[in-house]
Amino acid sequence: MPNGFVSLERLTAWLARYRELIVEQRIYLTELDADIGDGDHGANMSRGVVSVMEKLEAEPPTTAEDLFKKVGMTLVTAVGGASGPLYGTFFLRLSTGAGPATELDAPTFARALRAGLDGVLTRGKPELGDKTMFDAMAPAVDALEQSLASGSDLPVASAAAFAAAELGRDATKPMVGRKGRASYLGDRSVGHVDPGAASTALLFQALAEVLTED
Ligand code: ADP
Ligand code: MG
Repeated sequence: MPNGFVSLERLTAWLARYRELIVEQRIYLTELDADIGDGDHGANMSRGVVSVMEKLEAEPPTTAEDLFKKVGMTLVTAVGGASGPLYGTFFLRLSTGAGPATELDAPTFARALRAGLDGVLTRGKPELGDKTMFDAMAPAVDALEQSLASGSDLPVASAAAFAAAELGRDATKPMVGRKGRASYLGDRSVGHVDPGAASTALLFQALAEVLTED
């Protein structure tokens, strides 16, 4: 099979690595949110990812669909704020896209990520340039698809997605906030990286790390 596969075990490792990165960087995420929001993004996200891993350890998922459903439901309830329902929707759509398999081929995984991104779009109605998580997530999913389409395998494609997410995150700095709390600040939001874009870059960092291991 071209592009390779990702196992349920690897997908679970993705979430475990995401927890580590969020917990490590929660102060940074909170500082970003203090600049243009209400200073709770690090706390919200770390509460969410810790709850996610507790849930997965208590009730080990049997399929990719089951895994992402548990992740999505837990994030919706544990994170709260604007980002909880957005990340929750992302993972619930990923669940539907993944289906009841214990291994996803690269095209299926890419389609599931695209469905997750579309879920964020439906839920938050962000446009590119609004200074949100979408500005990191959309280029990451685009890059992953393009990389696979050019014949790369999943490790290479996930590294491309991470690189695109980081560029997308950094590109939010000069933007004027047009969604969520940053929009209340208008021009005063310029000069600050969006916290949701930063946590999304960590999501793709975690993916790239677990897919490029060994
Ligand atoms: P809250 O804003 O409720 O305090 P968080 O601080 O946890 O929630 O999350 C804020 C992040 O949510 C923002 O940095 C932004 O990336 C994201 N966000 C907010 N509103 C939207 C939206 N409508 N569409 C996409 N992302 C959004
Ligand atoms: Mg906040």
